[in-house]
Amino acid sequence: MNRAAFLDRDGVINRKAREGEYLTRWEEIEILPGVARAIGLLNLADFRVIVVSNQRCVAKGLITSSELEAMHRRMCAALANEGASVDAIYYCPHEIQPPCSCRKPGPGMLLTAANEHEIDLNESWMVGDSDIDIAAGISAGCRTVRLVSDRENIDGRADLTATSLLEATQRILAFETSLPVLARPIPQGASAAPNQRAKIGSSQGE
Ligand SMILES: [Mg+2]
Ligand SMILES: [Zn+2]
Repeated sequence: MNRAAFLDRDGVINRKAREGEYLTRWEEIEILPGVARAIGLLNLADFRVIVVSNQRCVAKGLITSSELEAMHRRMCAALANEGASVDAIYYCPHEIQPPCSCRKPGPGMLLTAANEHEIDLNESWMVGDSDIDIAAGISAGCRTVRLVSDRENIDGRADLTATSLLEATQRILAFETSLPVLARPIPQGASAAPNQRAKIGSSQGE
């Protein structure tokens, strides 16, 4: 089984559009600082890097699925140029109503990706900049990192918080290495790791 870092797209990988607006052209995509480095680190740590994005601009008719997928191919190519490999991008093209099985805060995209990429969700992380990302991650059984622009405005449900994908990645990697490993005694101070759950350390077999 593989483990994954599920990444929201807008506000995590690229700068998000202004409120109520949508990114519908490649020229509007601005990859955020440190993102390629962060994804490269996740690649090295053997996480599958999987983007999960609500894109109801498709349902609104602002962009077609094939245009969106072309934009995503260019995004992946730009990141690959900097040594960062994205394994897959899933998106929900639907409107909020009627409810679909994929739109976050539902876990549908994560469950589908887990099925298609043999991912152990309990060993995986969801990184997002909104509450619905965290809710989707929790529903899927993942650990979560909430990106926050203002540290005083933290959502309490996520396991960790960070101000960028790079910081989130560094915190994930630090958290993972702080976990007890098979047969090794739990180090002093390990309980200081945030929100240790019962399942941690219980499924180290690969
Ligand atoms: Mg977002
Ligand atoms: Zn959907």
